[in-house]
Amino acid sequence: MSGEQVFVSHAPGDLELVQDLFSTVKNFPFGVHIALEEIESGRSRARLEGRLANSDVVVAVLTERAATSQWINQETGYALAKGIPVLPLYDSEENRGGFITDVEGVAIDRENPSVTIFNLLCRLRSELAPLGALSVPNWYVRFPCTVSNCDHPVTLEIERNQTKLWKLHQHGQTLSTACANCGSQYYFDPGTIGYLRRE
Ligand SMILES: [Zn+2]
Repeated sequence: MSGEQVFVSHAPGDLELVQDLFSTVKNFPFGVHIALEEIESGRSRARLEGRLANSDVVVAVLTERAATSQWINQETGYALAKGIPVLPLYDSEENRGGFITDVEGVAIDRENPSVTIFNLLCRLRSELAPLGALSVPNWYVRFPCTVSNCDHPVTLEIERNQTKLWKLHQHGQTLSTACANCGSQYYFDPGTIGYLRRE
């Protein structure tokens, strides 16, 4: 683990959207802290300051709901003041405002979550890769083998760049890796690094 930290600032009503978009991102070798999940685990939102201060990137989820949430404004304002890059993930250009109008972000395409997740991974990869160990190149996902009684950690090394991954996705190809313990083969969508099947 290389220890990079991503903080996701979002409106309470957008938790489900955030969880959908970040479900595969969470398998990458950096910490993903989703504001509402942190709160549900017993912290108050005001006490997330430490998480924010230690993050390498703050993803601001800017939706209609977010426009009326003071938290997102405060959290992104805090990040910017600390010099932490903010990556806007937005429904429409109108949802971007203030300091982050000109920052390169990712448009949320609700009809096409694969495109949104792919673009999110592209931006995170370019933000995080120059930091420490991820530049090795060291872009991978790791998860416990899902075969009962195995549980062995399975790693999918991702050597291709994002452009090549998207081409593979468009051609319906997959990425695969095997569990070193039981030999089960796992298949992933190259665009979203979403789990497809196990054989
Ligand atoms: Zn296994």
